[in-house]
Amino acid sequence: MSDRGNLHIKGRVLAGPEDIRDELWVVDGRVTYERPPGTGRDTLGAEGWVLPGLVDAHCHVGLDQQGPVDEATSEKQALTEREAGALLLRDAGSPSDTRWIDDREDLPRIIRAGRHIARTKRYIRNYAHEIEPGDLAAYVRLEAKRGDGWVKLVGDWIDRGEGDLAPCWPRWALEEAIAAAHEEGARVTAHCFAENSLRDLVEAGIDCIEHATGLTEETIPLFAERGVAIVPTLVNTATFPRLARVGTKYPRWSEHMMRLHESRYETVRAAFDAGIPVYAGTDAGGSLAHGLVPAEVAELVTAGIPPAEALSAATWGARRWLGRPGLEEGAPADLLVFAEDPRADIRVLNDPRHVVLRGGVVR
Ligand SMILES: [Zn+2]
Repeated sequence: MSDRGNLHIKGRVLAGPEDIRDELWVVDGRVTYERPPGTGRDTLGAEGWVLPGLVDAHCHVGLDQQGPVDEATSEKQALTEREAGALLLRDAGSPSDTRWIDDREDLPRIIRAGRHIARTKRYIRNYAHEIEPGDLAAYVRLEAKRGDGWVKLVGDWIDRGEGDLAPCWPRWALEEAIAAAHEEGARVTAHCFAENSLRDLVEAGIDCIEHATGLTEETIPLFAERGVAIVPTLVNTATFPRLARVGTKYPRWSEHMMRLHESRYETVRAAFDAGIPVYAGTDAGGSLAHGLVPAEVAELVTAGIPPAEALSAATWGARRWLGRPGLEEGAPADLLVFAEDPRADIRVLNDPRHVVLRGGVVR
């Protein structure tokens, strides 16, 4: 298959969980279900199971363990996502300016949350604006203007004085800041590992929680009632034991991380069963490699989410949540072709036969 041109894909087009078509065309970079006139010699054919491009709803482009990275490294990160079929990325905080990626037809689309906003000395070095509560609303407004409709807070982190995870912000500061973001037309999400940061964030009006390992019987109904989404990043929380082992200077924190790790599948399953919207995100770009969305979807299945729903968490559902089209008539042709039905075996996601981005066949 070549780079660009008209495409005709036959097989099973999974345009939605309940919307399965027999064929699809790509004309001028867009999806159509109507056979274009003059379809002939210059039309390339393919066959298989078609899905919208995967969504990594929590990753970081332009960031590694040390902080911001150069453009060549950011490009490599974006290409690694593309190779894995992740064509829409929700960047959950980056200190780098990656706007140049928007002009690149060959790179995934990015929805940015600006730069992380954290409490002074309460996050990974070189990542965040580190500020005090009185400045939170002002920084939220700033990042709401820089981002693409999201703002990212660090909701809890180790408090070295307490030797354990602890909330980063007082309730009044959260109320002020989340209202400010909403005024600017941005949604707010927060990094939270622990239990005790969640109620204030949700009651202050937050839209999403990242990781959310600290959900409990008390907070799950609250999330469900308010429709607050979670992005569990199970491929990331799988690394908690490793973190706990190096953090033995803080035994309470280490034990806490181990407990959160042990209950992670149960927590995600309970959240899903209660009706909390769950989306697939990897947290690539901090300490994890890019291109892990298929592995995250498999983790959601391991946690007990039915395969079609886990798939939706990285495709139809995630795209709707982020306000981006899937495989509707006229949508930009960002799609994947698989040899088999990924709903029957989620491991199929690891090996797309073709990756089509903006109508161009990139794999
Ligand atoms: Zn992250």
